[in-house]
Amino acid sequence: MAKKAAIKIDKEKAKQQVAVIWPILKKTYPQAKCALEHTNPLELLIATILSAQCTDVRVNIVTKTLFKKYKSVNTWAKAPLEQIEQDIKSTGFYRNKAFNIKNACQKIIDDYNGKVPDTMDELLKLGGVGRKTANVVLGNAFGAAGIVCDTHVIRLSRRLGLSANSDAVKLEFDLMEIVPKKNWTLFSHLIVFHGRNVCQARKPKCDICQIAKYCPAANNPKFW
Ligand code: SF4
Repeated sequence: MAKKAAIKIDKEKAKQQVAVIWPILKKTYPQAKCALEHTNPLELLIATILSAQCTDVRVNIVTKTLFKKYKSVNTWAKAPLEQIEQDIKSTGFYRNKAFNIKNACQKIIDDYNGKVPDTMDELLKLGGVGRKTANVVLGNAFGAAGIVCDTHVIRLSRRLGLSANSDAVKLEFDLMEIVPKKNWTLFSHLIVFHGRNVCQARKPKCDICQIAKYCPAANNPKFW
């Protein structure tokens, strides 16, 4: 596949860009929030692990019954691996996911007194938990700041001239410099909503895009 052209990044301009599109996206998507249903940090941690290579809609269908069966870290840690695999099978990559969930829950019991930790460093130590998952949990279960770099955030950040990186971690650090910290969590949700509704991967709807005026990739397929 041909390498996509990247927009030249100027950090100061990118900061201004964020400041301009922020109120427009906020007004456009007042409903923007985490799409994974959960009632506590543990449920969100599990749902986020299950969401890798799977749609949020499918994860929500599975967790609706799953969370009635597995109510605590102890239930997950004690359950036979094969049973967890069967219960999460329809989310895909179920062997890895089941292993990671069971192990993470055991670690939470052993090292964190049975409570999901609330710092990036500790979450990363759970094993099978990367920065993306940790940021989802920090931002949405603990009210801390977290930029979640999923496929939408990566694609739109590049098109909008906020970062030239396609590596999620490098891009996250770019965004941390140009988005005010208090807005990190909601900024990710707004970008995801815009990516799903308007700035889609193959054919972005630049003609109806609310932020087209400020987008260097508007109507310019070489940047898609
Ligand atoms: S103008 Fe087009 S490329 Fe830019 S954000 Fe809008 S839909 Fe995406």
